[in-house]
Amino acid sequence: MIAERLIDWQLKHGRHDLPWQRTRDPYRVWLSEVMLQQTQVATVVPYYLRFVARFPDVRALAAAGLDEVLALWSGLGYYTRARNLHRCAAEVVGRHGGAFPGDAALLARLPGIGRSTAAAIAVFAFGRREAILDGNVRRVLCRHAGVSGYPGAAAIEKRLWDFAQAALPARGIEAYTQGLMDLGATVCLRARPACGACPLAGDCVALRDGTTAQLPAPRPRRSVPLRHCAMLVVRRGDEVLLERRPPAGVWGGLWSLPEAALADPGADPAPAAELARRFGLRVTPPRPLPAFDHAFTHFRLRVQPFVCELEAAAGAAQSSAALWLPLGETGQAALPQPVRALLRALPSRPARAGAGAAQERAASRVASARCRTSTCSMRRKRRASSSTQ
Ligand code: SF4
Repeated sequence: MIAERLIDWQLKHGRHDLPWQRTRDPYRVWLSEVMLQQTQVATVVPYYLRFVARFPDVRALAAAGLDEVLALWSGLGYYTRARNLHRCAAEVVGRHGGAFPGDAALLARLPGIGRSTAAAIAVFAFGRREAILDGNVRRVLCRHAGVSGYPGAAAIEKRLWDFAQAALPARGIEAYTQGLMDLGATVCLRARPACGACPLAGDCVALRDGTTAQLPAPRPRRSVPLRHCAMLVVRRGDEVLLERRPPAGVWGGLWSLPEAALADPGADPAPAAELARRFGLRVTPPRPLPAFDHAFTHFRLRVQPFVCELEAAAGAAQSSAALWLPLGETGQAALPQPVRALLRALPSRPARAGAGAAQERAASRVASARCRTSTCSMRRKRRASSSTQ
């Protein structure tokens, strides 16, 4: 049995000072568990601290506007989590009187709370004896029990849930659960696990068989389609035009640059000019900036940005789905990360007659470079867990 060894190891070597530990407040436990889905602790800490400072309890979060929640979440990725966070807070207040239910099955009915997250909340906030199975725990169990096969496959996942359930201790559920999480995050790493420091090394099948590099089995390869779009940067002095994206789907609910799908790659300014017309804008001829790529879970997006200056505007750009954002405020707005990077690197004054063209090209190169960084981190997150939003 692994529970006794894990509890003992956690008490001596585990993590005890994370900002969401040493509390049984279900709100804080829930917030941290949602943020930690597909995201590493070091990334989550500053976001968590900002959230609890601004929204100290579930009622404060439920009363906030989605825009503010998305803006605070911006940069953490997987924005469905932020939208579900907001919906969940409203449901806890509206249907549960502001108190999270203690039962894992009831928790799992709330927006954005899956089976493993529900179990973690039930354990840490209510001391319930429940099994978790996040990405790190899957890795530990796959290796320790020598489970081959992709752990996201239904049959393998069921086996792992059975293992996780059977391993639960009669006492010490919090230390045991935290120990599993800590072991996966700090010892049983994806690359080069520190088996010499592992309390489970004595009967680990993967260590015995020399298969730690092969387990868990990776997701079967699939081709990721490439899509193209044009984004239009319309400048009005030190402001740019943004439009709100639809509530569901990619970057749902965030503010972004006006965008049009492109059938083919290329720097044809016609779609950008058409976009400007759609907003009732008369603009200078759109000039292309270097394209950049951004990776999503199910496809890769190649963005061709164009920049132009406003000459005259009619009604559409004043609607509630559009706004003129001062470039100095990109840090506070709910923007997708690559769009924020592109806007931050634009020159502060509108480029005229080629005077700022070099700066604009530099801006897009910066967006492209940052976007690649973001893509890498998203890939790392995906590797950490097989679930996607
Ligand atoms: S012995 Fe190594 S592979 Fe096995 S569970 Fe521990 S760290 Fe992971």
